[in-house]
Amino acid sequence: MITEFLKENAVEAAFIQKDENCRYISGFTGSDSYLFLTAEEAYLLTDSRYTEQAREEAAGFAVVDCAGKLADTVALLMKKHHAVRLGVESVLSYRMYLAFHEKMPEAVFSFCDADRLRQIKSEEEIAKIAEACRISDEGFRRIVPLIRKGRTEAELRTALECAMMEAGSEGKSFDTIVASGWRSAYPHGTATKKVIEEGDLVTFDFGAIYEGYHSDITRTVAVGQITEQQRFLYDSVLDCVLHIESLLKAGERACDVDRKARDFLKGKGLDRYFTHALGHSVGLEIHETPVLAPRDKTILRAGMIETIEPGVYIPGIGGVRIEDTAAIQDDGILILTKFPKDFLCV
Ligand code: ZN
Ligand code: ZN
Repeated sequence: MITEFLKENAVEAAFIQKDENCRYISGFTGSDSYLFLTAEEAYLLTDSRYTEQAREEAAGFAVVDCAGKLADTVALLMKKHHAVRLGVESVLSYRMYLAFHEKMPEAVFSFCDADRLRQIKSEEEIAKIAEACRISDEGFRRIVPLIRKGRTEAELRTALECAMMEAGSEGKSFDTIVASGWRSAYPHGTATKKVIEEGDLVTFDFGAIYEGYHSDITRTVAVGQITEQQRFLYDSVLDCVLHIESLLKAGERACDVDRKARDFLKGKGLDRYFTHALGHSVGLEIHETPVLAPRDKTILRAGMIETIEPGVYIPGIGGVRIEDTAAIQDDGILILTKFPKDFLCV
């Protein structure tokens, strides 16, 4: 994997700093550490807090204690391996670049996208994501009886996050979204003190983490009597999700899948209210590539994970989003988030 990665990027060495990429490539689960990869040898650069853990977890990696001198260490390794071209990730800070440049002025830097290595998930990874999805399903199941008028969004957020932790989550994937009534027109409305009222649509967008892997799910629940227009929004978004889930499979281009969702909602007169991408991949990070968006021309392949999350948001009225996390297969998809999507009124 490493030799090919270096070759593809036309570099003799690569400096990897994103925690998720370090974990994926080496197995090391700590932070504040880096990988220095060459065709001959792979190094894990860390400090005294992590050397023991690194030796245990990162089999096959030479563990180096940089003792706070990262740029010196990298310069030394570049020299040792006669490397000139160094691949770096887009997260490399300008400050770190300057430090590197000072210690090895002859080095030629180029960006390399190590995230792409993680696009196709193994069976083992898919099983971990499925478990994260099971945990978030279970958390939501436990708090549905608590959803009623008079409660605040923040109370439900806390209850949901606690329920997911009790069900086995290592943490929350992201700031849980609970957006009710007019606030449901905010696609990313994190929970506030707003009180849930009769006639509100309430959108919950949340995720769990299992062995480092995330889940991502959204459900929208009606509280009491809602209007015909609100019900129309719900049914349209649900039909859109079901439509996309029925046609999604390996071989489709990411942008085409997004287009099909937009076309579907256009048929309902709602496309202009669908203001974000249809989906994204999920793994060690909550947002990964490829994304189901107009700009992404990637051909989807078996083993990729994608969310399917169309939504419509009408300012002043409210919105609906429904989201599943699914694994792409040759002949269809395996939906990993199993909480029912049927209209739910409490
Ligand atoms: Zn989500
Ligand atoms: Zn999502």
